[in-house]
Amino acid sequence: MVLNLELNVVEIKQETPDVKSFKLDLGMQTVDYKPGQYFMVELDIESDEKIKPLSIASSPTEEFILICTKSGESDFKHKLDSLKVGDKIKVKGPMGIFVLKEDAKEIMFLSGGIGVTPFRNMIKYASDNKLPIKMTLLYSNKTPADIVFEDQWHSFEKENPNLKVIHTITNAEGDDWQGRKGRIDEKMIKENCSDINNAVFYICGPPGMVDGLTNLLKSMNVPQQNIKIEKFEGY
Ligand SMILES: Cc1cc2nc3c(=O)[nH]c(=O)nc-3n(C[C@H](O)[C@H](O)[C@H](O)COP(=O)(O)OP(=O)(O)OC[C@H]3O[C@@H](n4cnc5c(N)ncnc54)[C@H](O)[C@@H]3O)c2cc1C
Repeated sequence: MVLNLELNVVEIKQETPDVKSFKLDLGMQTVDYKPGQYFMVELDIESDEKIKPLSIASSPTEEFILICTKSGESDFKHKLDSLKVGDKIKVKGPMGIFVLKEDAKEIMFLSGGIGVTPFRNMIKYASDNKLPIKMTLLYSNKTPADIVFEDQWHSFEKENPNLKVIHTITNAEGDDWQGRKGRIDEKMIKENCSDINNAVFYICGPPGMVDGLTNLLKSMNVPQQNIKIEKFEGY
């Protein structure tokens, strides 16, 4: 059911130099959302662009709503950036069909930057419910400082032995980065996927990245029905 809610901001966290997360209190309300869905977020501004979709980064197993966004120069982003604890945000939803396939045996999540928000939701949900899904997150960022929810991935992995999180950094120059470098590519996918023909692939990020990775998976003969995409238009 699509709800119209006004939720209190209870915590704001600077996740990376240009990404902030907003924890919203549900109060007495319950929202029945699926892992991967989004809200239409409406801000109190005089603009045609006062409503934008933002993925729900929290899991239905958590008692709050988490949204997370990258800063920008639009009125919407300026307003969001100015919000303080105690302010209210209007949300409409939940919406969307980019949701976790709970009966999958293996899932590969391919993501870049802020595109990881729905995957935090899906991974936390699958872990809290002990779903027997082999999950791998291939997460690409420009620099190590851009990794969103950086402090959480390791503890998620410790809690769920079926989860592997692999970071790859595309611009590691000057950083003492010992992990993987470069964009998500065929080699990285093949090395980490047990069954290319049957794994379900979720891709989320800027449209260019989603298109590029979709074409890559198609060239690797991944069945079309096993590729699920969400494009963050505007990036
Ligand atoms: C389902 C969904 C979930 C999303 N979840 C998140 C999230 O969790 N976090 C997050 O930060 N962002 C998310 N986004 C993207 C978000 O809604 C904004 O589009 C984005 O943050 C850019 O907004 P802006 O105000 O900074 O830029 P804007 O100033 O609105 O846009 C920047 C540029 O993109 C163009 N543009 C804007 N919207 C579109 C569009 N729909 N199609 C084509 N071009 C467009 C503009 O013309 C402009 O040139 C999501 C998008 C979708 C569709």
